[in-house]
Amino acid sequence: MTRLIELENLKKRFRVKEAWGKVRYIHAVENVPLYIEQGETLGLVGESGCGKTTLGRTILRLHEPSSGKIFFRGQDITHADMLPYRRKMQIIFQDPSSSLNPRMTVGEIVGEPIDIHHLASSRPERKDRINYLLSRVGLNSEHANRYPHEFSGGQQQRIGIARALAVEPEFIVCDEPVSALDVSIQSQIVNMLEDMQRELGLTYLFIAHDISVVRHISRRIGVMYLGNLVELAASKELYKNPLHPYTKTLLQAVPIPDPRITRSRQRTILNGEIPSPMDLPPGCRFSTLCPNAMQCCSETAPMLKEIAPGHQVACHLFT
Ligand code: SF4
Repeated sequence: MTRLIELENLKKRFRVKEAWGKVRYIHAVENVPLYIEQGETLGLVGESGCGKTTLGRTILRLHEPSSGKIFFRGQDITHADMLPYRRKMQIIFQDPSSSLNPRMTVGEIVGEPIDIHHLASSRPERKDRINYLLSRVGLNSEHANRYPHEFSGGQQQRIGIARALAVEPEFIVCDEPVSALDVSIQSQIVNMLEDMQRELGLTYLFIAHDISVVRHISRRIGVMYLGNLVELAASKELYKNPLHPYTKTLLQAVPIPDPRITRSRQRTILNGEIPSPMDLPPGCRFSTLCPNAMQCCSETAPMLKEIAPGHQVACHLFT
């Protein structure tokens, strides 16, 4: 299978200037090695602040990487002019209401990328294209003249998806696209994204803090903690056989709609502090919370290693 996206030790640090002119860095993404095959959905999970959104945005060069490399179809785009790639790589944002310009009609919002990339040669062609995109996401041509505030959250997210599809992308970063929506609407949007993937051959990086959401849509899932990729495996394998202590605690937090199973299941209580991304502990970043921490954990950072075919984990328990 073709690797559409490939990352080589990607790093993103944000410079923060403190009082007295002191400069510190937020280590948002650290040495992430990753690839996404054409037509696959790679899920990326972790708590808020773990760096998953920064990683998605850095792949699209909405943030410039601090070091490492980004490849698209084998081309190194780390420092390339991104205009030709903007058409191929799009993003769907978490909060649909704030990602849509309230002063533009839906037709103008969806039509804007068509204009930027000169994808329609006449006004009727542009209009047809907008109407097609709206129908593709379950809206209709009458909606083109309305403003974003006239729509529900789910409909606003559909408008955001139509805008992303307007340029016929190959790769879409879905940045928590259902987190702000009702549970009943979430499955509609996820099913629609799956249908579009089948029909259009799209490749997704699907970011979520809820591991149960990505399980449904992803072929593989990566788990991030404080900027590090700590585990990566096929979706079923990760659920059946989580190895990293952090992945286990994430899975234990998934609600099960059966109180008997919920009562009987073992829970690991994490004691300790989550370190600041500006002041990380030496060694494993999870060592301040990990119930399995050993002496070596606070001395040496574990590297991501393949433990079984396609199952990688960064933990000294598996070295
Ligand atoms: Fe826990 Fe050590 Fe593994 Fe880190 S390396 S997750 S501290 S056992």
